[in-house]
Amino acid sequence: MHDLTFASGEKERDIARDLHALAADLPLICPHGHVDPRILADDEPFGDPAQLLVVPDHYVTRMLLSQGIPPARLGVPARTGEAVETDGRTIWRLLAANWYLFRGTPSRLWLERTFDTVFGVRTPLGPDTADEVYDAIAAKLAEPSFRPRALFEKFGIEVLATTESPLDDLAHHGKLEADGWKGRVITTFRPDNVVDMDFDGWAEAVARLGDVTGTDTTRFEGYLDALRRRRTDFIAAGATSSDHGHPTALTVSLPQAEAAELYQRGLSGRASAADKELFRAHMLIEFARMSIDDGLVMQLHPGAVRNHNRWLHATHGRDVGGDIPQATDYVHALMPLLEAYGNDPRLRVVLYTLDEDTYTRELAPLAGGYAALYLGAPWWFLDTPDGLRRFREAVTDTAGFYNTAGFVDDTRAFCSIPVRHDIARRVDAAYLATLVAQGRLPYDEAAETIQDLAYHLPKRIFKVGVRA
Ligand SMILES: [Zn+2]
Repeated sequence: MHDLTFASGEKERDIARDLHALAADLPLICPHGHVDPRILADDEPFGDPAQLLVVPDHYVTRMLLSQGIPPARLGVPARTGEAVETDGRTIWRLLAANWYLFRGTPSRLWLERTFDTVFGVRTPLGPDTADEVYDAIAAKLAEPSFRPRALFEKFGIEVLATTESPLDDLAHHGKLEADGWKGRVITTFRPDNVVDMDFDGWAEAVARLGDVTGTDTTRFEGYLDALRRRRTDFIAAGATSSDHGHPTALTVSLPQAEAAELYQRGLSGRASAADKELFRAHMLIEFARMSIDDGLVMQLHPGAVRNHNRWLHATHGRDVGGDIPQATDYVHALMPLLEAYGNDPRLRVVLYTLDEDTYTRELAPLAGGYAALYLGAPWWFLDTPDGLRRFREAVTDTAGFYNTAGFVDDTRAFCSIPVRHDIARRVDAAYLATLVAQGRLPYDEAAETIQDLAYHLPKRIFKVGVRA
């Protein structure tokens, strides 16, 4: 074993190729994402290439905005009533003219791999080829085999989770079920808009939650009851997890009377910024209790400063690329939650971060020391080839592979799903190959691990193994 811990170039690449081949064709487990379920419920042909691949992709539109191209010119709907570009070909040409901005970015990688592997289009995109690429993709989109459900099957998706608010009637999921289509599309319980008092119209949303559930949400107890009822409905629609997108990971266990008082202050519009943060923090404890009762896996996505670009938010609304990551504390913030339930095997929390500095110092030690915690895949600004690699390098020492939850694509871009999973599988294969080449892991164990990471682990951690 004279090569122990040496890098070994070609040998390593051969091992990586072999390991990747073991995972490449495994079905896709997609337990967290933001695909619009209407797409699959209606199964209508997709719109033009720009409406499919540019307009909803905030990774793309924010890069162009950063170079002075307003989202309205890219067709991003405006809530101010301002006119936006509607001609797909015009939007596409604008993207192609600025394609050089995406050199070295994962957006370029995802889009090019999508053109190639989903649409069979290998002409490199650029100002001179904009129309050729557009026409080739448009022609494919007109074929029945490129309808959403056909693509879902072609992609090899075993299960796809979408994300809905407790105010959603889950009609699209109902239609999918009623149609008897074999594709499995489940929902995820995402209560932010009825929990976070900073959301526009929070009090109205809470009132609607009362209407939807026939519960008196003017009282805190009734509000908790309404949330419990919606979770039961979501579980009936296949949900196996909840998701919580908070600005911080703060948890606080308040006496019930104090939480109820905060709630009343929120309803009457008198809650301060500190009150709102405290309420969010307390609600995470409430949700942990509910998870212990009903079994939903609890996902926590902290650390985004939402709507940092206020002009963008005012003009185009949420989730259009105006959010920025911030430093996030977990060690102290999660202590109340972990003190209460961190060693309780009935609770399962999957933690994500936008703050890479926390991987080695906070997240890996936490997940490597509490039964309830798992590390979610690199998320949003970090789910890139380099980000995925850095994640393994940072967390494996302390958390190993089996305190991580497996890849989640977390995407709105339906056609990018296979590409994203393939890149994650490639990065994991390359990382494992390093261990094998350096003599730190036998090949047969690496072979088992790559298949666990790609398939078995996310299926088990997110409890999506058994169809409800
Ligand atoms: Zn998400």
